Amino acid sequence: MIRLEDIRKSYRVGPVTVEVLNGVSLDVHEGDLLSIMGPSGCGKSTLMNIIGLLDRPTSGAYFLNGREASGMNDDEVSAVRNASIGFVFQSFHLLPRLTAAQNAGLPLIYRREPEGRVRRLALEALDRVGMADRAGHRPNQLSGGQQQRVAVARAIIGEPSVVLADEPTGALDPDTGAEIMDMFERLCSEQRMAVVIVTHSPEVSERCRRRARVEDGLVHEEGRVPTTPDQG
Ligand code: ADP
Ligand code: MG
Repeated sequence: MIRLEDIRKSYRVGPVTVEVLNGVSLDVHEGDLLSIMGPSGCGKSTLMNIIGLLDRPTSGAYFLNGREASGMNDDEVSAVRNASIGFVFQSFHLLPRLTAAQNAGLPLIYRREPEGRVRRLALEALDRVGMADRAGHRPNQLSGGQQQRVAVARAIIGEPSVVLADEPTGALDPDTGAEIMDMFERLCSEQRMAVVIVTHSPEVSERCRRRARVEDGLVHEEGRVPTTPDQG
């Protein structure tokens, strides 16, 4: 479903080039629940942005559902991102003036789906995250855990193949974080989605079937023997 081959990413800041990713190779399959840990600044968000088609690598190949991303133009990237990827963020990123149902429906609004269908699927998505009874609430009328459930509903409403969650429990207490993890587990086992979670929490990581760390610009997966690099 996802294949990264020797992905490198560097940023130019003035005269300085910062090498963030130095040849990352990684496969993610349907139903995978993968955690990514590593110290602040090691490149976790950079990696997620590349997987999420929000940023392009400096070099290397990225295949999403068999299509190589560097060959896509910006419109194709947007369309593939909208169809294939759901995002969940630490701080929820809900639009404050919209209700839970309207927030959950946003990806389908961007796809120009008819209003009635968006409304129906939004209520279904909220039901899947246990939020059907809060459809008319605005974000400031919801707890943090409830807001994150709405954000998960928004991430899954378009039936993406992968959900990318960047520290999704970072702003939540441990019990609420565990409930969010219950939802991710269900998405993987029942809906065969892949979920990739960046986290600082060992409790969150322990619940993932696959665990990886970003270190020195590379991804090391626990219990996996690294393949011999082609060069250097
Ligand atoms: P993490 O999510 O693991 O904390 P990031 O991926 O956000 O780390 O950042 C990795 C490194 O890349 C950091 O040193 C950061 O300063 C640098 N970086 C991230 N984004 C940019 C950018 N747009 N321009 C320049 N440097 C960046
Ligand atoms: Mg980050």
